[in-house]
Amino acid sequence: MNYTDFFTGELDRLRDDGNYRVFADLQRKRGSFPQALNRDGDQKRDVTIWCSNDYLGMGQHENVLGAMHEAIDTVGAGAGGTRNISGTTHQHVVLEQELADLHGKEAALLFTSGYVSNWAALGTLAARIPDCLVLSDALNHASMIEGIRHSRAECQRFRHNDVEHLEELLKAQPLDRPKLIAFESVYSMDGDIGPIEEICDLADKYNAMTYLDEVHAVGLYGPRGGGIAEERGLMDRLTVIEGTLGKAFGVMGGYIAASTALCDFIRSFASGFIFTTALPPAVAAGAAASVRHLKDSSFERAQHKQRVAQVRARLDAVGIPHTDNDSHIIPVMVGDPVKCKYLSDILLKDHGIYIQPINYPTVPKGTERLRITPSPVHSQADIDNLVGALELLWSQCELARIPMAAQ
Ligand SMILES: *Cc1c(COP(=O)(O)O)cnc(C)c1O
Repeated sequence: MNYTDFFTGELDRLRDDGNYRVFADLQRKRGSFPQALNRDGDQKRDVTIWCSNDYLGMGQHENVLGAMHEAIDTVGAGAGGTRNISGTTHQHVVLEQELADLHGKEAALLFTSGYVSNWAALGTLAARIPDCLVLSDALNHASMIEGIRHSRAECQRFRHNDVEHLEELLKAQPLDRPKLIAFESVYSMDGDIGPIEEICDLADKYNAMTYLDEVHAVGLYGPRGGGIAEERGLMDRLTVIEGTLGKAFGVMGGYIAASTALCDFIRSFASGFIFTTALPPAVAAGAAASVRHLKDSSFERAQHKQRVAQVRARLDAVGIPHTDNDSHIIPVMVGDPVKCKYLSDILLKDHGIYIQPINYPTVPKGTERLRITPSPVHSQADIDNLVGALELLWSQCELARIPMAAQ
């Protein structure tokens, strides 16, 4: 086999389908995020980022930066080892306590990312619990799917958010067979929210554990930023709550919060926890500062809601089609990968607006979209620019609009 020909051939196919991914080279500006500098060959341009998962701008917050600077100045750069081999620093211990408290659980366990936390925790639970059946929502994130697959446990997918289908699957099993229901709160591509309470009811009825990915909700929902389960008063009904420190908390890392016994079990058996160097102490310190701040302050959450509502209303006013949902994510549907990429390129080059196109395999073919994530740090002028540019492009590209009467 000619290996290089194989690689380039596969990449050409991706390009032909419009699914080849190009990463924008961005340099955020401290204090003026969401503004950033975009380098493109020899060109440099100022852009406004409209697709960040740093939903609240916490990656720029002075408490977070202060805690990170202080940690570097007092303890240095890296953790120096796995958690087992001298890598457990005081910053990790404090952060795990903050996270357990955030979710009202006995314990929490840190991982190097949300991806790793799902992969390691789900993989270990499903592999180690004898004859475990995993029931997985059809739209679960890749990190959950990979963890479940890695476990080699039996997995049955239930139709997205479909509790009747889930019940059918549960009912067909012996009551005493171990079962694990894996699902999300806010699904990040459509922005819809899972029926957490109904799923917990089914888990009780059919003797199953529940594993909830709150990655797109922690920091953003609930009086203390504990997520949708906190907002709905359901945290104590979930076996495991999983989250990230890299999105609304603005730093990096992932975690699970659960009982002491379950966290200790994962700590003791999960390869993806045991055999990798711990997060740098400064990262843990920054994340802890972010979690702590958002427990006490609802200001950012209120501002965020208000901006999201405003952007939706402005898009409605000019007939730009976006999917309605109960979350903070605004998917503007394009439905074609080449057009989606083209719109994104023009927005960047002509309007200084950065919105990454979301194409297959992140979303199903035919549902390609621009996924807009307003934040408290977007100004009125930013919103004016965004809506003006989209309005212009929708006319130029002859894209479908919502007829005014149908709105
Ligand atoms: C981003 C994401 C993850 C992974 O979290 P990271 O901290 O970015 O690794 C897990 N689950 C969902 C639903 C996500 O969108």
